[in-house]
Amino acid sequence: MSEADAARDGAAGSGAPALEVDRVSFAYAGRKALDDVSFTVRRGRFTALLGPNGAGKTTLFSLITRLFDAREGAIRIAGRDLAKTGASALAPLGVVFQQPTLDLDLTVRQNLRYFARLRGLSVKDADRRIEAQLERLAMAERIGEKVRALNGGHRRRVEIARALLHDPEVVVLDEATVGLDVPTRRTIVDHVHDLTRTRNLAVLWTTHLIDEILPGDDLVVLHRGRIVATGTAEGVVAETGAPDLDGAFARLTRAPDGEAAAR
Ligand code: ATP
Repeated sequence: MSEADAARDGAAGSGAPALEVDRVSFAYAGRKALDDVSFTVRRGRFTALLGPNGAGKTTLFSLITRLFDAREGAIRIAGRDLAKTGASALAPLGVVFQQPTLDLDLTVRQNLRYFARLRGLSVKDADRRIEAQLERLAMAERIGEKVRALNGGHRRRVEIARALLHDPEVVVLDEATVGLDVPTRRTIVDHVHDLTRTRNLAVLWTTHLIDEILPGDDLVVLHRGRIVATGTAEGVVAETGAPDLDGAFARLTRAPDGEAAAR
């Protein structure tokens, strides 16, 4: 193996940084929404970005997906600076937005094919990947149905399949379980955790729901635009001295115990 190959393999290895947020600040009309935010999302890791309403999660998500540009600081995807590299820096990124973005009058296959073509995949390759992704999400038999006929949980699964079609290194999901019932939420959260292990994927999962986070997950707690804790979820709990993540979150976001913000 050449040195260059070894370096590339090493960079793609488990634990390698896939998404770096480096001293990012952002303001809406002079009002700071993010203040000097830094953290890293690594390959093979599920990183939860947890914060109460108004913490700045969606603002950060918008900067990572380039809906806005970072005014201060840098965001790097697979080592490439978004501001310096342009649109191609987004190639290793998969995205699931908070609001559903499927065309309701197209079938599952048509929605996914359209996206695959935008990503430059051939029809044959696209179809192979679409079938494989849907199979993993137990959605294969729904491929010919119009999205309008699917329930919220199944629509979300299609969006997750879509985010994975181009084989990204990192997937970011913004409150992906909003509006879903508890068993459906559990299925989706479990599936995304599995992806980190089976595909060595880096995942950034924004949420205000503590029960979606496992003790060994990486955790970034955002409050009023600032990071108030980072580490594994169990490490953050231990550091705060709280009995559990609910208590830790309440302390970190300065709400009284038992009244964690935005549960
Ligand atoms: P939620 O969970 O409620 O979606 P969030 O953590 O995603 O909250 P943001 O939506 O990023 O938080 O908001 C962070 C701060 O920026 C809040 O004070 C919010 O009022 C403000 N804000 C968000 N979007 C805008 C906007 N378009 N114009 C002005 N202020 C905004």
